[in-house]
Amino acid sequence: MSSKRDSLKDYQNKRNTDRTPEPEGQGASANQHSDKLFVIQKHDATTLHYDFRLAIDGVLKSWAVPKGLSTAADEKRLAVRTDDHPLEYAEFEGIIPEGEYGAGTVMVWDIGSYKPIVESNGHDKPMQEALDEGAIKFELQGEKLQGGYAMARMDDNDSDQEQWLIFKLDDGKADARRHPQNTQPDSALTDRSLKDIEKEEDRDA
Ligand code: MN
Repeated sequence: MSSKRDSLKDYQNKRNTDRTPEPEGQGASANQHSDKLFVIQKHDATTLHYDFRLAIDGVLKSWAVPKGLSTAADEKRLAVRTDDHPLEYAEFEGIIPEGEYGAGTVMVWDIGSYKPIVESNGHDKPMQEALDEGAIKFELQGEKLQGGYAMARMDDNDSDQEQWLIFKLDDGKADARRHPQNTQPDSALTDRSLKDIEKEEDRDA
């Protein structure tokens, strides 16, 4: 069994907390809602991508989704598994300085809660177990994204990072006409654009 502390080791090893404004991940800040938290952080790094994170067993399980999640039913998007992040990372918005891991601007693009989707046989499998098996399903209740999504791990790749697919389930919230990454580009937390964050965080520094 890996503890929460072990799970965050890669996150901590890659960061110099004197240089980056990101949370250290030492805090035991889990409030009672945090276990059903999800967040999508728009990250303007070397290439712009969306970091999708789900709180499972006290940490944020994380994937980098280059194109972001689609709202169209069954439209599959690549999601590359990344390090577990501490729960307090969910509300991090700011600039990771040049030369630091993940250098670039981070915005909270969407945030809310999720509910695991229980299989039709009624078997309520713990999320961590489903994650280990490479297949999870959940319903998002965010500002921009809602409804059921599924993720499946692709086991036939040579990369040392796990590659997953994430796609919208065909439910009442599926909508092929929406393109929220384009039409709702700003922060769900502060309404700021990437440019606003860059300007303001620079001034504060
Ligand atoms: Mn990222």
